[in-house]
Amino acid sequence: MSKIIAINAGSSSLKFKLFEMSTEQVLAQGLFDRIGLAEGEIKIKYGVGEKFETREEIKNHSYAVKRLLELLLDLEIIHEFSEIKGVGHRVVAGGEYFKRSVAIDSKVIKKINSLAEYAPIHNPANLMGIKAFKKILPTAAAVAVFDTSFHQTMPKENYIFSVPYEWYQKYGVRRYGAHGTSHRYVADVAAKILNRPLEKLKLISCHLGAGASICAIKNGKSFDTSMGFTPLTGITMATRSGDADVAMLSFMMQKLDMHSMPEAIYDLNKKSGLLGISGVSSDMRDVMAKSSTNPRAKLAVDIFVKDIVKYIGSYTAEMGGVDGIIFTAGIGENSAEIRSEVLKKLSYMGIMVDEESNAVRGENIVISTEDSKVKALVIPTNEELMIARDVAKIMTKKNVKSAKLV
Ligand code: ADP
Repeated sequence: MSKIIAINAGSSSLKFKLFEMSTEQVLAQGLFDRIGLAEGEIKIKYGVGEKFETREEIKNHSYAVKRLLELLLDLEIIHEFSEIKGVGHRVVAGGEYFKRSVAIDSKVIKKINSLAEYAPIHNPANLMGIKAFKKILPTAAAVAVFDTSFHQTMPKENYIFSVPYEWYQKYGVRRYGAHGTSHRYVADVAAKILNRPLEKLKLISCHLGAGASICAIKNGKSFDTSMGFTPLTGITMATRSGDADVAMLSFMMQKLDMHSMPEAIYDLNKKSGLLGISGVSSDMRDVMAKSSTNPRAKLAVDIFVKDIVKYIGSYTAEMGGVDGIIFTAGIGENSAEIRSEVLKKLSYMGIMVDEESNAVRGENIVISTEDSKVKALVIPTNEELMIARDVAKIMTKKNVKSAKLV
């Protein structure tokens, strides 16, 4: 029996999923929220529909990890800490240095720290999670899985921006992309469903959550992706603008009497996207519910659909064709309507939707007709499972045990 835990540590939260790796069964999953604030929140789901929920102060990440492990014992999910053989940590920015998941040692820690300038909120939080686990589970293998590493295979013409080249050479300004673990997971599953080798497929993965990105996956490798240097670019998102003309910011800074660039960028990150266009909500369900009566809500949905169609069209052209289009994450997995709208606009490619299959929820499923030239699929993402699989792979390959931290 080998148990692996996947960890996603944010600045004030820690999410986890504990797997029994021999069967990939989820033993428990949950969230420690509002870390460092007066009233923290702990939610754990385990067993057959069992739940544990409480509110209490969670001082810091170390305390959250200690409490999590104690609760796993108390709830009899594990019987001793040593049953957890590996810990996989999601890390947001891996820069150009981390091209794949790695066993964590002191050098890796230093590097993740030095990459914090690319993800100032996330990387330090990820490191807090790493250090907290290392203290409490010193003998478990620790592995870092980067959101960016899948995209390190992009050809140069797809990651270099059309700006002074020195910006890249001196400061590392380039397209890094995001959601890599999700795109990698759904591409693997798609190849299995289509019963074709991943290395021979041209896929376009649409990760449509609050944050959203599209990825062209050619022969199993990320070929191009819509998120850029930061996760602000690409398609319209819940509150993020997606692609925007940066010169409008200096114009708007004058109009709105803003004094700093971060203040202006805040509006592109937090007040734009579905929320900014519709004025209704950042949540796609609310926006769709109002779209028959509120023209701005309808416009927000129309722009969202148009952006997806535009990226799929351009990625198909870049790859010289496409075999399958994958929908995943909150909107991609749950909204038959958005999928149908997108795919209808792509009928010129020979895609035909099977509306009966499209109506099914929460499964790995092909939603195009038998004779559709390009296949369309819905694949619920599972970034945590991908993280746990990477840990298992690295443990077997390198026989990683305890990596010493300084
Ligand atoms: P993230 O992980 O990026 O926070 P999720 O992947 O959970 O986001 O997706 C959240 C989005 O999914 C929200 O905009 C929500 O409205 C949308 N969503 C969930 N269910 C549906 C649905 N049935 N129809 C349309 N949108 C949905």
